[in-house]
Amino acid sequence: MTPTDSAPLPRPTREEAEDAVRTLLRWAGEDPRREGLHDTPARVVRSYEEFFCGYAEDPVDLLTRTFSEVEDYDEMVLLRDIRFESHCEHHMVPIIGVAHVAYLPRKRVVGISKLARVVDAYARRFQIQERMTAQIANTINEVLQPRGVGVVIEASHQCMTTRGVHRPGVSMVTSRMLGTFRSNSDTRREFLSILNRPGVTGGV
Ligand SMILES: [Zn+2]
Repeated sequence: MTPTDSAPLPRPTREEAEDAVRTLLRWAGEDPRREGLHDTPARVVRSYEEFFCGYAEDPVDLLTRTFSEVEDYDEMVLLRDIRFESHCEHHMVPIIGVAHVAYLPRKRVVGISKLARVVDAYARRFQIQERMTAQIANTINEVLQPRGVGVVIEASHQCMTTRGVHRPGVSMVTSRMLGTFRSNSDTRREFLSILNRPGVTGGV
């Protein structure tokens, strides 16, 4: 494919996808005909449907359909420790972490489960953490038009912990601050201090 050829490629069939898994098994040194591996290609392909279901979701649409107009709430809304599972687009291995999402409403708010669904819709794709952080913040900013948005993501990348440099225990932190979260250091400090507080439920 040349860089100018941007037409979408047709989706392969399930059989083609399963064949690709057999090829990788052979590449790893296995014989895909071995009994224990008979159902593996089908299982891997089904797992991919689950890991990457975010491609079928439109996060903008998700928020557009669900916000409510409120006139009198203007304090920070913060959802902390949203666990997510994603996959690194460079090595196709898991990125596992938590996202913290906050915004200062102007007049639109959404249910907290919708914020978690926006995180999932972007996580369940091939990602790099920096882009995922920006996508979540930008989508909330675009749809809810709040006074500000802050997103912090902390995650462990299996491409760093189980291969390459082998650094278990290392996590990467990325953040994206928009509006008052960027321009007002008090807002930013309030957000970051809540993140550092022990969990009220004792769970974190
Ligand atoms: Zn990677």
